[in-house]
Amino acid sequence: MATRDREIRRSQVIELAPAQKRRQAERLTEAAPVLAAAYGQALGRWLGDPVLRLVGRPIITECYRSAERQNELYRQGRSMPGPIVTYKRGGESNHNLGPPTPALDVAFQLADGSVSWSALLLSKFARLMKYADARVVWGGDWPSFRDRPHFELLSAQKGGPGRE
Ligand SMILES: [Zn+2]
Repeated sequence: MATRDREIRRSQVIELAPAQKRRQAERLTEAAPVLAAAYGQALGRWLGDPVLRLVGRPIITECYRSAERQNELYRQGRSMPGPIVTYKRGGESNHNLGPPTPALDVAFQLADGSVSWSALLLSKFARLMKYADARVVWGGDWPSFRDRPHFELLSAQKGGPGRE
């Protein structure tokens, strides 16, 4: 019976497909070592938590971003449809540095296969990231444009806050 209970519990933990796992590993290798280490530690704590790991599985949605892709994002909500997602043009974001890139964006894979940007989950994950390394800055702490999926390194900040 105990074995069966364990099996049921394990089946509820959100697993990534092999292709997703590969993409996650690739994105993590783009990240600056300090940021990658902090993410690895925060992810480990999250997956080690009996409640959090059932709620959602942290994933890196983006790390390095080319200047062209940054400009494409900048057009969104301006000359193109959709909400504004960035105030930085190509070359201005910390995502455009490297690799190694001192910025990464996080979301959560849910059990039903969808992706969540829940503010509550992101704030919980941010706590683990900041605990892992004090040099980690969370975009959710910025006063002007709260960029909750965004994490970066303190040393990467050149123009003050808002380097999404
Ligand atoms: Zn970002």
